[in-house]
Amino acid sequence: MKLSIIIPACNEEANIDSIYNNIRAIFSDINFEVVFVDDGSKDKTYKVLESVYRNDKEHVKVISFSRNFGKDAAIYAGMEHAAGEYTAIIDADMEQNPTYLENMMTFLDHHPDYDQVVMTIQKRNGNIFKRVGGKLFYKFINFLSDTKFIEDASDFRMFRSTVKEAILNLPEKNRFSKGIFSWVGFNTKSMEYKVGKRKAGKTKFNLKSSFKYAINGVVGFSVKPLKLATFFGTLSSLGGFIYLVYLIVKTLIRGVDTPGFATLASLTLFLGGIQLIAIGILGEYIAKMFIETKNRPIYVARKKLGFDEEIL
Ligand code: UDP
Ligand code: MG
Repeated sequence: MKLSIIIPACNEEANIDSIYNNIRAIFSDINFEVVFVDDGSKDKTYKVLESVYRNDKEHVKVISFSRNFGKDAAIYAGMEHAAGEYTAIIDADMEQNPTYLENMMTFLDHHPDYDQVVMTIQKRNGNIFKRVGGKLFYKFINFLSDTKFIEDASDFRMFRSTVKEAILNLPEKNRFSKGIFSWVGFNTKSMEYKVGKRKAGKTKFNLKSSFKYAINGVVGFSVKPLKLATFFGTLSSLGGFIYLVYLIVKTLIRGVDTPGFATLASLTLFLGGIQLIAIGILGEYIAKMFIETKNRPIYVARKKLGFDEEIL
């Protein structure tokens, strides 16, 4: 098998046919498979996938989750089941034009020294918060993390089986794909792509979930926030100590002054705030450890179509 194309799909009933037909037309003369991962869709996505599978059992495989486990879990499940020499990931909504897959494949064919091609976003879609937030996210995480993130990289990519094996060997449950793909390293080529228009349905990432996703990424790939807490703690206690010495000296020279209530109140609030933030940061990491130690599976499959061991 030359190429496996993984398509995570959550409530994409109106997009499946079109992405499948596009891929089918492009790769008619190579040995490929499409691994659809239905990530707990509430609409007719699974029904549509089933009929696509019945019509083309040679090329189509389907894994259906028992509930929504998130796009990163879907990508993992797809990779576990991908058999191709090359593996690609593409969204189901046609924002990522499948014709780019051909360019990525040609590049890997002609450059044996490269292992991975990642598509970077030329111009972001969405409202101002999503566009600016996306840019800021990469600046922020590159400042905090030791793993270097390629700016504007998407999950739209193609890689060799060596990369796939390396990623499947990472046991973590909190799977932040963008970080994992950077962490494993390998020779990576970035190419720009133009984000298309979502064909039907709507995005699953609103401002709140994008923010949660970003925090997840930071906590998963950097321990600097913990060190920042130590830094600010040290800074404020040092400031407090200097102020104390100043007060003692002042009292010795000038005698007891009227106490400054406002100063005290604002200092207490400020320091209390810093302490709570530091505890909050600790909490984020402890929560992640809690999830990891439970060692639960990354996803639960309800049905699989096109694999030998079909769960029915
Ligand atoms: N997706 C998924 N599970 C989720 C959220 C999204 O499998 O919990 C899929 C979705 O069906 C799509 C891709 O991930 O194929 C990208 O999602 P979306 O288009 O909503 O995000 P955006 O492109 O707006 O960032
Ligand atoms: Mg999209």
